[in-house]
Amino acid sequence: MTENIFEKIIKKEIPADIIYEDDLVLAFNDISPQAPTHILVIPKKNIPKLSDSKNEDKDLLGTLLLTAKKIAKDNNINNYRLVINNGSEAGQTVFHLHIHILAGRDFGWPPG
Ligand code: AMP
Repeated sequence: MTENIFEKIIKKEIPADIIYEDDLVLAFNDISPQAPTHILVIPKKNIPKLSDSKNEDKDLLGTLLLTAKKIAKDNNINNYRLVINNGSEAGQTVFHLHIHILAGRDFGWPPG
């Protein structure tokens, strides 16, 4: 199976602007930022999209959210939006689960 771009970033086969890494999670700046701060938080485990996650991923999913919170706190970001696009019609383009952290501007609601 061909690796997608995030799997290549996890394996350091292609570069990324990595801002956080541990055994389970990697976070890096989005290459095409949609806000002054736009960070992607991804599990190292290959889960293509949220709807593919299983009950056994409960701790990992919690860890992703707690890591997003930690990254925001460590960067003095108090107001932010977290986004998970699930499926192409919802805007997902990379099929490796990721949380977008967006901050640094006002956000409208409903989202576009
Ligand atoms: P989504 O549309 O929710 O699947 O989000 C995928 C995100 O990955 C987009 O915001 C892209 O700009 C971002 N992206 C794609 N390739 C790279 C890359 N090589 N490094 C960092 N971000 C990337």
